[in-house]
Amino acid sequence: MSVLQNKDLPHHDAHLAAIVQSSGEAIISTTLYGEILSWNLGAESLFGFGADEVIGLNMSMFVPPDLHSESDEFRAMLRLGQKIENFETRRMSKTGEPIDVSLSLWPTLSESGEIKSCSLICRDITRQKYWQNAVQELNEKLKESNAALAQSNLELQQFAYVASHDLQTPLRHISTLIGMLLKNHHDQLDNEAQEWISMIDASANRMGLLIDDLLEYARVDSRKSALTQLDLAESVNDAVQVLQGSIQESAANVNIEALPQIQGDPAQLSQLFQNLIGNAIKYRGSAPPEIAIACHSTDDEHIVSIRDNGIGVKPEYHTRIFEIFQRLHSQSEFPGTGIGLAVCKRIAERHDARIWVESEVGTSSTFFVAFPISILTTV
Ligand code: ADP
Repeated sequence: MSVLQNKDLPHHDAHLAAIVQSSGEAIISTTLYGEILSWNLGAESLFGFGADEVIGLNMSMFVPPDLHSESDEFRAMLRLGQKIENFETRRMSKTGEPIDVSLSLWPTLSESGEIKSCSLICRDITRQKYWQNAVQELNEKLKESNAALAQSNLELQQFAYVASHDLQTPLRHISTLIGMLLKNHHDQLDNEAQEWISMIDASANRMGLLIDDLLEYARVDSRKSALTQLDLAESVNDAVQVLQGSIQESAANVNIEALPQIQGDPAQLSQLFQNLIGNAIKYRGSAPPEIAIACHSTDDEHIVSIRDNGIGVKPEYHTRIFEIFQRLHSQSEFPGTGIGLAVCKRIAERHDARIWVESEVGTSSTFFVAFPISILTTV
């Protein structure tokens, strides 16, 4: 039931009144002191009271005790002719349940322009609030787990660094003792004992290599320097210099096309190219290595490619080879520790770059590193 009486109104006003009356939103009018004058169906369903129960009562009955000063302030503003639009607050229903609402209030003027009453629209935003809070809570949780993940990553890196660093000393000790045993007590050792000691020596050497590479991996984060503007061609040339020995030994031909300038860590990028070019030489087929280094730039990225004519990588291993300690060959086929590409991936990540491989088994592999183009990057 409502007090909006349509019968005395002109046709247009009656039409409007009917719309207001049936609106799903709570539309209410009050005196400037909050006494309820009209109450539509939307108000009935929002607050749980029929119009006949509330007309003449004060709107403050729906205001939670802690928000009385806020509603006093609104009334003062209305008396000054000011509007309040889409203000998010709380009201109470008939059962005392809190309702999250969006309030719009404005003064209604008489024909002579005097402020005579107040109209208000009250929208139930409980659901919206519920989802907003849920999203916010999720975001908070996400932030917390990200922070925890960053912390455990850091601890893991520190652990890898400390463990690999500290393992080097006892390992060196073992190698020295093996050397002394073989040198000073050679005659007392029978063939079997000598063979076993050689095997221990080989394992100690292998462990040494693994520890060195693990240290290299941990250092990607612990030894990083600030990113500076650099010429990628210089990083590639540095890598080629370091690999001169194996380039000559394998009669490799390295062709380097024009490369851009990017924001990067010079030592790490040189390391990345050393690993990729080194692999292009190591995983060669029967022909001498043909290595082509080039760059194709899009609007967003400089995509550097390192292409070889080697043994290739089967598609099912294209992701796995970038994980630490993942190798596809035995030591006798191709020696290695399975850390080189994991280091490359980590260096790429530090540069916000993507890294991946495309390959045709038995024909070639192309490793791609796509560096994002920042404002400071120039070709
Ligand atoms: P490692 O060379 O020590 O095994 P990497 O992490 O550098 O470790 O490489 C992981 C694996 O990826 C290698 O064992 C090899 O099977 C494969 N791989 C890497 N580069 C190439 C390449 N250019 N051609 C073919 N296979 C490659």
